Amino acid sequence: MEKLVDRYGREIRSLRFSVTRRCNLRCFYCHNEGEPLDPKGEISVEMAAAIVSVALKHFGVRKVKFSGGEPLMRADFVDIVASLPKGLSDVSMTTNGVLLRKYAKKLAAAGLRRVNISLDTLNEEKYDFITGTKGNLQKVLDGVVAAVEAGLTPVKLNMVLLRGVNDDEVPKMMEFVRECSRDGVVKLQLIELMDFKGDLKEFAVDFSEVEHRLRAVASAAITRKLHRRRIYVVDGVEVEVVRPMDNTEFCKNCTRLRVTSDGRLKPCLLRNDNLVRINSTDEEEIKAKLKLAASRRAPFYAGSL
Ligand code: SAM
Repeated sequence: MEKLVDRYGREIRSLRFSVTRRCNLRCFYCHNEGEPLDPKGEISVEMAAAIVSVALKHFGVRKVKFSGGEPLMRADFVDIVASLPKGLSDVSMTTNGVLLRKYAKKLAAAGLRRVNISLDTLNEEKYDFITGTKGNLQKVLDGVVAAVEAGLTPVKLNMVLLRGVNDDEVPKMMEFVRECSRDGVVKLQLIELMDFKGDLKEFAVDFSEVEHRLRAVASAAITRKLHRRRIYVVDGVEVEVVRPMDNTEFCKNCTRLRVTSDGRLKPCLLRNDNLVRINSTDEEEIKAKLKLAASRRAPFYAGSL
């Protein structure tokens, strides 16, 4: 089978859909998945299914992740998941978890395999500060339990580290993961803050230090293929470290193609000058556009590539 490979030899193995720009939280640091500022509606269930089907059938792309905005803001999100073709190896979503308790079982029944849940803090006041809302933390914690019960595992908790806000909470979060995880089904992801505009400098955390501390106490360290991410195992808890900033290894090992909330193919999180619009659900059209988008991929942090 033909593969989708870019000029730098990077094969596209996964699609990351932003299905909406709408969100029920207002996290002050949110990068909105690098969405362009001129959206034209939201991608339809049919278009999402068609893109996944063509990528799977013609190029063997077997992984799909949904993001947003908040995917669960879409009344038809369960339909999107249910409309995907058979034969995918991984169907996941990243959610803020606020509405997850209501949808976890339905999502699992529709074919979702696992979830990432954004949870930066276990402190209610800090949660309200970060998300610009009030009283949602408990809903997210209930969502974590619901996800585990529905078998949407492994559940990965996404924690963006913010200096002076939650960077002292890593041990507490690891303890929480240990408590709510049977057989290691809950894992922690520590994410480096991406500061595109340079207005979040005061919150930047030195991730070399974070990794240094983890390495010192880890019983094992594993390297993932995607982005060459490191996973440290500490007292049975898996802690994955996501360090995108200025990271040439991260870009060199990027195997994703993104789709914007209005259905345009997006070769890189950090650029919007190379998007590819798809005009119909016609198989040949989508196939050609996937190839065009792959040809436009270039590592943002290029190093010696
Ligand atoms: N609403 C969903 C959620 O909360 O997971 C999906 C959208 S959100 C943009 C996806 C992920 O991106 C979340 O885990 C969030 O923490 C992360 N994220 C958002 N802005 C970020 C930034 N500036 N740097 C690093 N990660 C960021």
